[in-house]
Amino acid sequence: MSPRILALAGALSALTLSIPAAADEGAFASCLAGLRAEAQAKGVRADTFDTHTAALAPDMAVIDFLDAQPEFVTPIWDYLAALVDEERVADGRAMLAQWKDVLAAVESRYGVDAETVVAVWGVESNYGRNFGTRPLLTSLSTLSCFGRRQAFFRGEFFTTLKIIQEGHVAPERLNGSWAGAFGHTQFMPSTFTRLAVDFDGDGRRDLVDSVPDALASTANFLKRAGWQATLPWGFEVSVPRGMDAADAGRRNKQPMAEWAARGVRRVDGRALPAGGAPSGLLLPAGRGGPAFLVTRNFDALYSYNAAESYGLAIAHLSDRLRGGAPFATAWPTDDPGLSRAERRELQQLLIAGGHDIGEPDGMIGARTREALKFEQARLGVPADGRAGQRVLQALRAAAGR
Ligand code: CA
Repeated sequence: MSPRILALAGALSALTLSIPAAADEGAFASCLAGLRAEAQAKGVRADTFDTHTAALAPDMAVIDFLDAQPEFVTPIWDYLAALVDEERVADGRAMLAQWKDVLAAVESRYGVDAETVVAVWGVESNYGRNFGTRPLLTSLSTLSCFGRRQAFFRGEFFTTLKIIQEGHVAPERLNGSWAGAFGHTQFMPSTFTRLAVDFDGDGRRDLVDSVPDALASTANFLKRAGWQATLPWGFEVSVPRGMDAADAGRRNKQPMAEWAARGVRRVDGRALPAGGAPSGLLLPAGRGGPAFLVTRNFDALYSYNAAESYGLAIAHLSDRLRGGAPFATAWPTDDPGLSRAERRELQQLLIAGGHDIGEPDGMIGARTREALKFEQARLGVPADGRAGQRVLQALRAAAGR
């Protein structure tokens, strides 16, 4: 779906619109005037362009997001602890029940099962609770006129104007990530154009206010990415200690029989499926952590966000929604990650300790990290600002909990 830069969108959660300098305002106005003819050449009517750009002002904060370097690389066990927690499993089961009939119709049309579709929904927008709050036209016009990837974002900007022109989504409903991903499925506008479908039959492809359209569009995305109804995404495996894993990797697929001959087994001890699909050996944290054999269906999940950690989150959440267990093998860390409930508790403890970090929303932003560094230094542990089990337990103990 989305460019790799979207991986940053979840990590950075500033909500403010930054105030543009006068020079930025002037440059923006002349840039927009210069885009008018190009927009028309791409199918945006002049009246559409004029109506929906007249009141635009640049939001220079999106340029900061575009240029942001992650403060540190988030370990995969932190991503998964928050993306696949008990809360998201319970919420997903409720969604499976609520949208049962629509999901059955989606599966019969596109060949993608309900748990997989709902898992994508849960990871992308927390089942429609988190669309992002930035007006798409503001973000995409700013990115069209400033920063490193203007040609790419101009295409997304013109496409957004066409989505409005065609009446699929009202402009005031088009809010999303700083980079322009929007709605239940967090499609970029260009992905919308290629893959969004009208499943409720009202003539509009509405990924913001129609859950059936959004679920079907997700399934259509996966089908077009090569999803095979008869295949699992993969499964957790055990790898013999001495096995040479130099050829590990999602892309390097070998026949299941080849892996079996090398001693790879499912973690529950069952043999690998005979005649199973070609699979790659995924070692997200190296030899010391969980291992997986993944099929081409995992590649379809991967393509949703171009990150193996997100692909694994969707895959694992789908298994949990089917009643599957957490991974059998622990991650190679003595300080595991936190669920969103634990993150909120951590933030409440920091607030009770006098830190001004805003509302306990479970998002670990810059202010939470600064407060954590302060507390870690006080506790005499490495002050890296990471929210893990160790600092949570220390803060609980200090608060007498
Ligand atoms: Ca519709």
